[in-house]
Amino acid sequence: MNDSNQVVDSTPAPFSFPPDSGTTPEPCVILSFDVEEHYRIEAASHLSFSPEVKAQYAARVGPVTRWILEQLGERDIKATFFIVGELAKNDPGLVRDIHSAGHEVASHGWDHRRILAMTPGEFREDLRCSVDLLQQITGEAVCGYRAPTFSVVQHTTWAIDILAESGLLYDSSIYPVCHDRYGIPDAPCSPFLVEGPGGGRILELPPATLRIGGMNLPVGGGGYFRLLPTLFLKWGIRQSFRHGDPAVATLYFHPWEFDPGQPRLPLQGLSHVRTYSGIRRGRRRLVALLDEGHFGRAADIARRIDGAKCSTYPRTLSSEIVLNYQ
Ligand SMILES: [Zn+2]
Repeated sequence: MNDSNQVVDSTPAPFSFPPDSGTTPEPCVILSFDVEEHYRIEAASHLSFSPEVKAQYAARVGPVTRWILEQLGERDIKATFFIVGELAKNDPGLVRDIHSAGHEVASHGWDHRRILAMTPGEFREDLRCSVDLLQQITGEAVCGYRAPTFSVVQHTTWAIDILAESGLLYDSSIYPVCHDRYGIPDAPCSPFLVEGPGGGRILELPPATLRIGGMNLPVGGGGYFRLLPTLFLKWGIRQSFRHGDPAVATLYFHPWEFDPGQPRLPLQGLSHVRTYSGIRRGRRRLVALLDEGHFGRAADIARRIDGAKCSTYPRTLSSEIVLNYQ
């Protein structure tokens, strides 16, 4: 799957995936959606909203998520939906629709509080409540978690121990980039085994990046998908195919990014640009991407990965031999 002869990928080439020419290649691009109300975004965390405004936004999540489900259904694509617990509590029918369409339901925390804002005890409870509720709604075990705003960072790696003890199959909360709000820049860019300070280990599925000039650009979704030409995202996926071990890329989007008619939040400056640039072309871009690729659910792809053969973070784990991870 990897082109090990090519070490430096310096020029974008025509894009196609999956990379194998076989007739039935396994999907190796994880397609994921973080399902949350529009006002939960980190850029709006300093604002307060009336119950009426919250209800106005909450009412928009179902229709736009069902639009995504339609697009996926037409193409027989299965994806992973990381869902906020409070939203699931208020709209369990949406969770059931996602699940009954064959998609994976995973946790995006209870109320979209970043891990940075929680104590370990609060995080353990937040995770437990969100997982329990989703399992009650779908009747199926939750396998994965993504922290709000990728908030597993250097000083919240204690969360890894809690995720590991929870018995989840994977986490997708570490963005291996340098960013003002999140990121562990020196973490591996393809799936890796991460160890917390207490020795707990879990498979980590980092969002796709593009390595240029010695830096990892965050191209795996969100605002970067709307702000940058799509070729950067495709270039990042292609790098994952060529150099990643395992050769897996993870993409992430939010339903609100495909809701062009949404009332705009009173955001200023860079936050406004990051949140709303490209919103009008979001649907068109997503549909074009779905037409080009071969995608899969995070849990399915995680089960194919041999954690004992992955790279690790930290580079040296507390014991040298990683035994029977899976
Ligand atoms: Zn989120």
